[in-house]
Amino acid sequence: MAIIRTVRGDISPEALGVTYMHEHLFGYSFKPDADMDLRLDSEAAATTELHHFRMAGGQAVVEMSPGDYNRSPLVLKRLSEATGVHIVSVSGFIKGSSADPFVTDKSINQIADELTYEITEGIGDTGIKAGLLKAGSSLDKITPNEEKIFRAVARAQRETGALISTHTEAGTMALEQVELLRSEGVTPERILIGHTDRRLDWDYHLAIANKGVTLGYDQFSKEKYFPDSQRVDFLVRMIKAGFGKQIAISGDLARRSDWTGYGGGPGYTFILWRIIPWLRKKGLTTADIQMLMVDTPRRLLSIGD
Ligand SMILES: [Zn+2]
Repeated sequence: MAIIRTVRGDISPEALGVTYMHEHLFGYSFKPDADMDLRLDSEAAATTELHHFRMAGGQAVVEMSPGDYNRSPLVLKRLSEATGVHIVSVSGFIKGSSADPFVTDKSINQIADELTYEITEGIGDTGIKAGLLKAGSSLDKITPNEEKIFRAVARAQRETGALISTHTEAGTMALEQVELLRSEGVTPERILIGHTDRRLDWDYHLAIANKGVTLGYDQFSKEKYFPDSQRVDFLVRMIKAGFGKQIAISGDLARRSDWTGYGGGPGYTFILWRIIPWLRKKGLTTADIQMLMVDTPRRLLSIGD
């Protein structure tokens, strides 16, 4: 029987509900010179944000901060208990050199075993399990350690059946990521390529979609990269082209300045209160919205069958 693995335990896929597929609630870089705006370290602010999310109709959040980004499973569990929002925590690593201390001296299989343990047994000694896997690449390249991580994540995927959700830097290297994961035997249905809306190039999106993987349109509200009007247009076009089931929506609000809980904005209500009505104006049906916000997350996050 399929389950979805949350920080409060396994739930039935039907219980997941309206989901944001790539967010951050608590986590930050270990690097001393890291941008303070990226330091999400307030449980109170996260609680506020999740209350707003619930008020807007949200029910589940995929938290994409892994072990090399100060992931805190106990905090996530408390947040979920306090707000009733389902939270799925991630195993794996972010892009770049943050993972180096965790992977440089290990073999691919050793890393794969550690990631598998986090999904099947728990993170550290918390007993709280991760529910999906993450790997990431740098701008226009996949470094040797990043490749090692992609292979390890692929092997852990094959062992556990969990989803792989990736980070692309500015949307680059999506096809190379797919190829790498496919070379390790991962099926396209278990791959979500993140941040593809950082590169709104129609042929590029078609090429990714034609591989059978899911595309993350997970930068909603980030007008500095592309205006939401273009994201909305691409989304509508993808649905018309028959790729609606291969789009996963989120906002990736990883900065204090993104959150009302820290006095910034637009916060966790943005997609539900602004983007969904906008999509309806553009002609999307209730069934389309259900597909984007409920059915696709449920399918992607389900483990086992
Ligand atoms: Zn992210």
